[in-house]
Amino acid sequence: RRFHGRGRGPPRPRRSLEQARAIPHVQKDEPSQIPSAVYPAGDPNLFAGHLQRCFARSCRAHRRRALSDCRHRSVSGAPGVPYPTVPRGDSTTDCLRRRRTFSGGKLNPRSKGRSTPVAPARRERPPDIVPANLPNPTDRPNLLGLTPPELAEALDGHFQARGQPRYRGGQVREWLSAGDVRGFGDMTNLPLRERDALGKRFRLEEPGVDTVSESADGTVKHLWALRGGEVVESVLIPAGDRLTLCISSQAGCALKCRFCATGWSGFGRQLSTAEIVGQYRASARWAREHARGPVTNVVFMGMGEPLANRKAVFPALSILNAGYGLGARRITVSTVGVIPGIEALARRPEQFRLALSLHAPVSELRAELIPLEKRYPLEQLMAALEGFNRKGGRRITFEYTMIRGVNDDLQLLPRLAELAGRVQAFVNLIPFNPIPYVEWKPSFAGRIRAFREGLERAGVLAAVREPRGRDIDAACGQLRASRRPDLTRRPVISERGRRFGSSESP
Ligand code: SF4
Repeated sequence: RRFHGRGRGPPRPRRSLEQARAIPHVQKDEPSQIPSAVYPAGDPNLFAGHLQRCFARSCRAHRRRALSDCRHRSVSGAPGVPYPTVPRGDSTTDCLRRRRTFSGGKLNPRSKGRSTPVAPARRERPPDIVPANLPNPTDRPNLLGLTPPELAEALDGHFQARGQPRYRGGQVREWLSAGDVRGFGDMTNLPLRERDALGKRFRLEEPGVDTVSESADGTVKHLWALRGGEVVESVLIPAGDRLTLCISSQAGCALKCRFCATGWSGFGRQLSTAEIVGQYRASARWAREHARGPVTNVVFMGMGEPLANRKAVFPALSILNAGYGLGARRITVSTVGVIPGIEALARRPEQFRLALSLHAPVSELRAELIPLEKRYPLEQLMAALEGFNRKGGRRITFEYTMIRGVNDDLQLLPRLAELAGRVQAFVNLIPFNPIPYVEWKPSFAGRIRAFREGLERAGVLAAVREPRGRDIDAACGQLRASRRPDLTRRPVISERGRRFGSSESP
């Protein structure tokens, strides 16, 4: 009553000594260590208030009495906050000193303690019973962007910290490589609490489907919505028993090739590894669900220059190859000639294939079509390709878009054959696919055939690539993710460009 009840209504009846001893935490002589006691409501304010009123001002004798009388006393077994260790007051003098301190520095007239000032008793911080907020989604690593060794390390560390067996990490990796799960909730051989814990620690996030367009020839184009509002495209191209997936590595492109709609639409941002791998996973799942069969080949020929985003593309190559079991020779990286990227790709042990967007066999004309030619001239580019070729077992393909009157002059044929012969390249002749930014037209079929036959006579393997998905703007050079803003550049075709062209039908 002395500490709690004064002036607050009628006094409560005091417990007898036997009743007090029946309370578990006051049966011992020293009541300051009571680890098993639990507060009933888990209320930090109640807890702090009790500390102040019942403990902080009490010596050992007062404390025991306070506990036995306390209206906040613990209820054994009730859920709540564990009772912490409370600093011991070892004498009545200390107790009186605290009482003075808590009375604002004035000496309590009923106390007999010393008048020297003392430091206030340290208050226990109320325990944090509010669950930690979920971290920002972007702070959680996306498992799709981790290479196999990184994934194993992250999952093993996570499950080890949670006291789970080692095989849990293997279970998650199996679900991921199968490619069917959309979230941790689908991993049904994991305990529910482990799925929840994975969701709080990691992300499993693929790009969202914005639009799916299907061409009359079976080509399917996906428009993917990314974080931040960017959109990119990927294309599924069926051909016989093969299903090739063309994926994007950048939102837009900064290299501004004149024949390419992506270049005209400007640069948005680099894609992350997870966004690149996510395109593969989501496209492959779509193909399985729509009876198109498994994806057999992947080409980095969608939006963007992959070797200008090596930080994301190179791990993605490892993940597709080692994580999803796509053979390295079934993965092709296409470039307009980023020499450091070609050299870096050559240093990798896997035999990924390389496609060079050549489009003109002389530097002067090539610079008109591909501005990057000014930075990495054709001769240096050929030296890098020869280095790539010396690694052995890796095929190089030349992509040659045939534009009527621009780069289809028969005078260019010997030079094209010579370049291809130097690196044993296969030449793909691609009729130009119309885009809204230039008024160019594809070369006549006879001229394209003449190029193919001329190359074959020179001992170079060549083929004409049939346009696929033109009716849905999914053909080569047409990807522009139409929701992206267009640049307002006007087409520029210099007289030098025309000099090599022929507008006559062969
Ligand atoms: S061809 Fe490739 S590098 Fe050139 S603008 Fe298009 S996406 Fe970019």
